[in-house]
Amino acid sequence: MYIFTKEKYCEKTFINTEEIEELLENTKFPDSEKIRNILRKSLNKEKLSPIEVATLLNANSRELWEEIFDAARKLKEKIYGNRIVLFAPLYIGNECVNDCEYCGFRVSNKKVVRQTLTIEKLKEEIKALVNKGHKRLIVVYGEHPKYSPEFIAKTIDVIYNTKYGNGEIRRVNVNAAPQTIEGYKIIKEVGIGTFQIFQETYHIPTYKKVHPRGPKSNFAWRLYGLDRAMLAGIDDVGIGALFGLYDWKFEVMGLIYHTIHLEERFGVGPHTISFPRIEPAVGTPIAERPPYQVNDEDFKKIVAVLRLAVPYTGLILTAREPVEIRREVLKLGVSQIDAGSSIGVGSYSDKDPELIKKSQFILGDTRTLDEVIYELLQENYIPSFCTACYRAGRTGEHFMEFAIPGFVKRFCTPNALFTLNEYLNDYASEKTYEIGKKVIQKEIEKLSGKQKEAVISGLDKINKGERDVRF
Ligand code: SAM
Ligand code: SF4
Repeated sequence: MYIFTKEKYCEKTFINTEEIEELLENTKFPDSEKIRNILRKSLNKEKLSPIEVATLLNANSRELWEEIFDAARKLKEKIYGNRIVLFAPLYIGNECVNDCEYCGFRVSNKKVVRQTLTIEKLKEEIKALVNKGHKRLIVVYGEHPKYSPEFIAKTIDVIYNTKYGNGEIRRVNVNAAPQTIEGYKIIKEVGIGTFQIFQETYHIPTYKKVHPRGPKSNFAWRLYGLDRAMLAGIDDVGIGALFGLYDWKFEVMGLIYHTIHLEERFGVGPHTISFPRIEPAVGTPIAERPPYQVNDEDFKKIVAVLRLAVPYTGLILTAREPVEIRREVLKLGVSQIDAGSSIGVGSYSDKDPELIKKSQFILGDTRTLDEVIYELLQENYIPSFCTACYRAGRTGEHFMEFAIPGFVKRFCTPNALFTLNEYLNDYASEKTYEIGKKVIQKEIEKLSGKQKEAVISGLDKINKGERDVRF
């Protein structure tokens, strides 16, 4: 039964705490053969069951974990190749009626300066982002009556309709409070990409403890938030857990059950999964020392197991993480990262040193977009700003990448190269331009026949000044 009223508290959801605890208990100390069989299944691109995921999470030797990491790297390479999609977060407003213990924006935090972008200021932010080369944004809002569906839709509409020079924002994803079905419909109208809601923790007692008041204290309203989005016609939804609030193995299982629920109910799982770790935030003691802090080694395990468990779901890593960790986990299965990010309200166009007081938390990776792209190119990745699938109505593209033979070759690689070429011609530093053109050449060499001709012709059009070339 699905309960959508904000008033009713639903005790029985698809998250069954005892079942998860039992699974994790009963799969302790798995033997190597069991783990290897699961890895074989995953490399065969078959989805894993909850018991198989629990078994992997319980691997208890260094050697077995090395095998799991290797399998995750192979699977990532097999499905996604060397493309990495880039985006930037844009904070629209930090007013909030909730009191999430871990977040700098919570209502009781007096150290944060509250601000909501005016339309004029929003345009300045977009200008700064477009002029750096960004094409994809995630817009972020606190939970506040000011941030109504109409307000959210209006801000997104402004973003889509603000063009600077050769550039514009082509895909806007949203991270905002759960809405009613009617609310989602209003937001969908302006053409959003993914609607993200992180459950934060799937462990109900912990959830209740860290969300003591405000609308977010209703676990079920949030848990079914993306069901309502899908019922409103939003095809791409993103789930996530905030690691550090409760046992990381339990949270991975929660994400898996959430995925299964969406697949069973709507025939398609989440478009993306996010797995942020809690970062320090102004005036927020719990964020300095989270109760279940996840160390770097366990963080790698989270990414590898998710990659193996749901091969066709995009995995998002954010600049919350420091550079060295970002490098490592990219290889294990991440398909999207943000770059050149700034998370203070108004912080792309305004260099106020006090901006930290308008920020939700403190970033681990503060490199510019160009620096990130340069490094990705050095490591033979193709940085991509592709937005073609969603604009051609091919929603759920990760599933297609995985399921339709030749999809990556036909659409993803050319579109990644086209958007990279646009970036190089319009925004890149000299050294990024140089290495980028070489990487494009190398990728062309891997193609053949009509495909090769079509890609060369597309790149040529871009070099002659055409923009937004895509398949
Ligand atoms: N207010 C909306 C909500 O809570 O769903 C959307 C915006 S909220 C700013 C986006 C996400 O930031 C939250 O879902 C949470 O996972 C994450 N977050 C909050 N505090 C954080 C912290 N200290 N470190 C890292 N991520 C944090
Ligand atoms: Fe508000 Fe979201 Fe922060 Fe909670 S996580 S305090 S709802 S902005």
